[in-house]
This record gives sequence, C-alpha cells and structure tokens, in this order.
Amino acid sequence: MPRDFLTGARDAYDVIVIGGGLGGLTCANLLGRSGHRVLLLEQHYKLGGLATWFKRPGGRIFDISLHGFPVGMIKSCRRYWTSEIADSIVPLRRIRFDNPMFSLTTTFDRVDFTRLLIDRFRLERAAVESFFERARGMRFYDDQSTTVGDLFESFFPGREDVVRLLMEPITYANGSTLEDPAIAYGIVFSNFMSKGVYIYEGGTDGLIARMGRELRRNGVDIRIRCPAERIVAEGRRVRGVVVRGRFIGARAVVSNASLHATLFRLLDRQQVDPAFLEEAESVRLNNSSTQVYMALKPEESIDESTGDLLFSSTARSFRTESLLGRDITSRTFSFYYPRTRPHAPPRHVIVSSTNARYEDWVGLPDDEYARRKRILMETTLDALDRYVPRARDRIEHVEAATPRTFERYTGHPSGTSFGTKFEGLKVSRGVPEQVRGLYHAGSVGIIMSGWLGAINYGVIVANEVENQLMAESRTRVPANDA
Ligand SMILES: Cc1cc2nc3c(=O)[nH]c(=O)nc-3n(C[C@H](O)[C@H](O)[C@H](O)COP(=O)(O)OP(=O)(O)OC[C@H]3O[C@@H](n4cnc5c(N)ncnc54)[C@H](O)[C@@H]3O)c2cc1C
Repeated sequence: MPRDFLTGARDAYDVIVIGGGLGGLTCANLLGRSGHRVLLLEQHYKLGGLATWFKRPGGRIFDISLHGFPVGMIKSCRRYWTSEIADSIVPLRRIRFDNPMFSLTTTFDRVDFTRLLIDRFRLERAAVESFFERARGMRFYDDQSTTVGDLFESFFPGREDVVRLLMEPITYANGSTLEDPAIAYGIVFSNFMSKGVYIYEGGTDGLIARMGRELRRNGVDIRIRCPAERIVAEGRRVRGVVVRGRFIGARAVVSNASLHATLFRLLDRQQVDPAFLEEAESVRLNNSSTQVYMALKPEESIDESTGDLLFSSTARSFRTESLLGRDITSRTFSFYYPRTRPHAPPRHVIVSSTNARYEDWVGLPDDEYARRKRILMETTLDALDRYVPRARDRIEHVEAATPRTFERYTGHPSGTSFGTKFEGLKVSRGVPEQVRGLYHAGSVGIIMSGWLGAINYGVIVANEVENQLMAESRTRVPANDA
C-alpha cells in the first residue's frame, strides 16, 4: 500500500504553511512558538527549499545556495530561531574578484571597499563616503524611478570598473541588474557592506536539521512529500488547503510557494479582483541559474588563499547580458574548505554558479540537454584551472544543475533563483486584501529574497497572521471547522 504522508494529521489547524523554504519555515516556527496549531506542507522529500544540499557517495556534500549572506542573519536567527543556529554563522574573509579590469581580494565591507575605491580606483574620499551614505539611507518607500545604473552614473560617471566592483557581486547575489530600482540595490549592498559576507558553519544540512528540530519542539506538524494542490477560499475568505486529495481546514494559510504558483496554480482566480490578477500577471520573474558541483579527491586540498568566494569573469566589460547569456564568461566560485563542515570528514568542494535564462534550457531534446550540460561542466573545469591548477586531475566528481533542475525541485516557474522582480513585492503584500486569511511569504523583489530576506519576510508575515488570529479570538470568530 502506498504510504500516507498525512497519517495522523488533524482535520483543521490554526495555520497551514505551504512550503518549507526559509520563509515558510520561519513563519511556521514563530506561529508554532506562539502556541498556534501549525501544519507545514512541503512537496519535496526534505525541508529547506532552495536552501538545500545533496549528498554523493564517499562523504561528498554539495550546498546549493550557501555562498554568502549579510551579517543580519545572526540577529534574525538568534531572535526567530535559536542561539545555537546564530552562533554557527561565521564571516568569510577572502572575497576575490578576477576580471580583465582588476584582480583583488577584499573582506567585502565598507572599510575595505573605501580603502580600495580611494587607493586602487583613485576616487575622491568625499564621493565614496557620500555614495555609501546614499546607499545606506535608502528605504523601501523611496522613489523607484532611479535605477541602479542612474545611481552609479551620478556618483561615478563613466567608471565601468567601479560599477563592476560595486555591482557584480550583487547581481550574482540576487539577479539584480543596472535597470532595477536603485533602492533595491542600495539596501542589499549596504546590508553586505555593514560587516561583509557570512555563511553557516555546519553546512545547509546542519542548519535545516536544527531548524527541523526547533519546529518540532514548537509543535509544528511537519509533512514532507505533501504538495498542496489547492488553496480553498469561499467568499474571499480562506478555508483551508487540499493536499493529497484531502481537505484540511485553517483560519489562515501562508504560501511560501512562488508568487505566481500561489496565485495562478493554487488559488481559484474567482477569489481575486481581475485588476489584481492583471497586475500579478505582469510581475516579471527573476532569472535562474546553472551550477557545477566539483569535489576534490580526498587526498587533495586547496590552499585557503584561493579565496572563499571568487567572482571571476573573462568579459571585458560589465554587462547584464553577458552575465545571463549561454556563452558563459562569468562564474562565481564558492570554495568550501573542511571548516565548512567541521564534524565531517575533511573534504574540499567547489561550486560554480552562473546566472542563467530558463529559455536557454527548457524544451531541449534529452541528448541536446545532456550535451549542453557536458559543455557547461567542461568549460567550468577549464575556467577553474586558472585558480586550482590541474583541476581536472584533482577533481573526482563533477555534476551540473540547470534552470530545469531548480524548477523540478521547487516547482518555481522558470526555475527562478530569486523569485520575482521588485514589483512582485506589492502583489505579494496585497494578497491578504484579496482573500482574508491568505498570505504570501516567498521570494519577491530583491530585498525579500536570499536567505536573510526570506527569513525576514517569514517573520513579517508571521506577525500579520498572529494579529489576525488574535483579533479573531477577541471577536470570537469561530475557528474554521476546528
Ligand atoms: C543557485 C542559487 C544560489 C543562491 N545563492 C544564495 C546565496 O548565496 N545567498 C543567499 O542569501 N541566497 C541565495 N540564493 C537564494 C536563496 O536560496 C532563496 O532566495 C531562498 O532560500 C528562498 O527562500 P523562500 O522562503 O522564498 O523559499 P524557497 O526556497 O523558494 O522554497 C519554497 C518551498 O515551497 C515548496 N513548495 C512549492 N510549491 C509547493 C506546494 N504546492 N506544496 C508544498 N510545497 C511547495 C518548495 O518545494 C520549496 O521547498 C540562491 C539561490 C539559488 C537557486
């Protein structure tokens, strides 16, 4: 008999969270911690969403999205998760750039960038300081007509090398471009500049295991391999979710699935205003990625001077197009030394990431898809050779992921790595106004994505759900089907 992954689940909960990405997990954790009955549904066989990893025989573990996040993660994890998790967040010290315009190593914080911009790029201190202040002073509600490109041009006219230094890592970090609103860039850039780049020591598997334990401690009912099929709403009020053919009631539903999947696959269109749907339809998706995962032979090692994160490019100038195109000229190499997983056998692993377009990978016949993946791996090994000499001889395992892989494992349309473009935020925030009790907490825009953005968005939405539940219990609205 097929296993029933919902055995023992109740017929109704206070809240159902659809999706176990960092946003969904955080939201579920906070609501569980407040004493609400929470059901967490994850379609995949493990939690984490894009914060994930995979294992291969011989002790090889590859992280998908553990490349770097801002220091704010420490505070968020301490407050909304545990001290144990917060205490495992550690800085990366060696961020390298290597491109035809410059090669340098930095700690990627304001002090070091100021030094570099003045000493190396020969800029006036006043211009550098005022750029940092302008970026730091940016807020959500600021004017959105100024683009990132406009911002750079006003501070550093004609300086493509400076733009490259300031922009390339953020483009890699969240797919943003020179055409995006400057505020989105300013907030993310300033977050990184405050103290540099951090990662989780213990690996993504260690983090998600700890999160899972904390969720259970807070009473969250976690169900993996449970894809929500439909969000049920009547009269613009959420009633529950259909999962594996079974209806489960809830007073509130939080969707951590992508914004488009939430509105166009899970929800009945009749439940929202046509104008809202139209606005949602015009929200652009962010790009996707390709990755190449490489493990060194157990007896091989890489010197730590190679760097932690290396932004490498052979493109003569910085262009969004050249970051996305199929002829890859730019790669971000993440080097994982044994300290990434202090309790595991000492292994050196490298992950190369490149922004990519879904259209370049979808619809290919199997043999052509396999051929392109092979080319991706081969050209990546060639590029790596410059930093890890004789890479081919020293590496024992190589495999690749494409936008199709990301789509397959998360259900995100077009395998988007960072949800939607900035305009998705307004639509995401507007969901509860359309259907009472329904919320979205998944990657949208540049700020509400990435590990920190997703966690913080989960917190914001948990507070809103909490307010709804409290208000309802004050006015004695009966719990749906409870
Ligand atoms: C290659 C790559 C590299 C990245 N690198 C970094 C990095 O270095 N630093 C950083 O901060 N961020 C990085 N990110 C981005 C970061 O991983 C994501 O922004 C973040 O993890 C997204 O969290 P989320 O809460 O939006 O949910 P997601 O991680 O998108 O998860 C959504 C979850 O919902 C589940 N789901 C969807 N539909 C259903 C359904 N119907 N029923 C049940 N479950 C469902 C999915 O299976 C998934 O588990 C990277 C992303 C990629 C792809």
